Amino acid sequence: YTGKTGAQLFSERLRKLTVKDFQSLPVVVNESSSVYDAIVTMFLEDVGTLFVVNAEAHLVGILSRKDLLRASIGKQDLQSVPVSIIMTRMPNITMCASDDLLIDVASLLISKQIDGLPVVREVKMDNAVKYEVLGRITKTNITKAFVQMASDEIH
Ligand code: ADP
Repeated sequence: YTGKTGAQLFSERLRKLTVKDFQSLPVVVNESSSVYDAIVTMFLEDVGTLFVVNAEAHLVGILSRKDLLRASIGKQDLQSVPVSIIMTRMPNITMCASDDLLIDVASLLISKQIDGLPVVREVKMDNAVKYEVLGRITKTNITKAFVQMASDEIH
């Protein structure tokens, strides 16, 4: 008998959960897409965050619901404004890797006050580091992990 409390065991198991077991598929738009098309994509794909990629499929930006709302209350023609004008851009994007711990992602979502992160893989191109988008991890994925851990206790 290890003498560990239930809380210690729970915490140990929580600290073993990794991003790859809970991530969802990413939804991406091209940097030349219009704000109008991004809004349509957000509704059709039923996500709260879109990742913006360039022609090489490398991550260049991120769009939240409020980014698109903010752009929509101006007088601009949404069909002619590209998302690259309004997105949060690199290098100001908080990202994670598939083998990162879920608890570390949860802490980042709280400290950065954001809903989700792209799950990326680093690629080296012309002596620069670029990022390929492999997945998406959001508050919803973390909530699912939370519920799964509670049902593991019962079974
Ligand atoms: P909302 O704006 O719809 O409440 P968020 O809280 O996720 O959604 O986004 C807040 C702001 O932070 C937005 O301007 C968005 O572009 C930006 N943002 C969202 N996710 C990230 C991220 N992973 N890294 C950097 N900025 C982000």
